[in-house]
Amino acid sequence: MPALADVLAALDALWPPERAEQWDAVGTVCGDPDAEVGRVLFAVDPVQEVADEAVKLGADLLVTHHPLYLRGTTTVAASTFKGRVVHTLIKNDIALHVAHTNADRADPGVSDALAGALDLRITGPLVPDPTDPAGRRGLGRVCEFDRPVALRDFAERAAARLPATAQGIRVAGDPDRLIRTVAVCGGSGDSLFAEVRAAGVDAYLTADLRHHPASEAQQAAAMSRGGDGLALLDAAHWATEWPWVEQAAAQLDEISDRHGWGLRTHISRTVTDPWTAHAPAAHAPTTDHVPSTTTPGAPR
Ligand SMILES: [Zn+2]
Repeated sequence: MPALADVLAALDALWPPERAEQWDAVGTVCGDPDAEVGRVLFAVDPVQEVADEAVKLGADLLVTHHPLYLRGTTTVAASTFKGRVVHTLIKNDIALHVAHTNADRADPGVSDALAGALDLRITGPLVPDPTDPAGRRGLGRVCEFDRPVALRDFAERAAARLPATAQGIRVAGDPDRLIRTVAVCGGSGDSLFAEVRAAGVDAYLTADLRHHPASEAQQAAAMSRGGDGLALLDAAHWATEWPWVEQAAAQLDEISDRHGWGLRTHISRTVTDPWTAHAPAAHAPTTDHVPSTTTPGAPR
């Protein structure tokens, strides 16, 4: 069995930590470099439920996309929820390693896995990494369809191919309009609207879209392009990043085979998206409930 240090070196070669954003906190959170690793669990979130899953599985290493601690801390006491995760892992000899924005920008990265899950043909990154001469690394991916699909059908495809969550897929745009090109970005993508606009795509699929950036991007696209403007598909954050978990486990499997490590890799299917239910709107707003603005006795 390989030492943790050997496995971590292989993971760092896949997702070099120096390619993470400045604000990010990637790398090894806990673990003894000399410990032997036989079983590895991959997951999106380092939450207690996933730590418990790692214990149950007998994992020696947990690899997650999201950091446990993004900012500095002065305590890992088990009386805090993050400290409890640290205690659970250390008491059970489980290391924790994080690949976040370094995995987003990688080739293949988080958005490659998302595009793959949606069966899209990638033409290039949405925000290319200028340090990559091959032009494959970067944030998000721009994709083409082999033949145009209706927005409604693409939304149904996304709902069927991504793991199920309470949120499902929120869609903005005429359901019958045809989509030829789409930008995808795993995780929160509403900071990339300028690049989406520059890419001139018909649709954008990401997560965590907020009212103002989404509304303004649509208004801007409608004004500059006319016609159908920009269609939006907003999936659950966890669901857009989960395909990376499968991709990452397959990458480590391949490395393990090459080195004869005999690692057992596992994929967490625990839904750690925070949203647990969705109540569809029953009706459109009507004037029935609008309070009268006239004051009794006031002049009309
Ligand atoms: Zn994320």
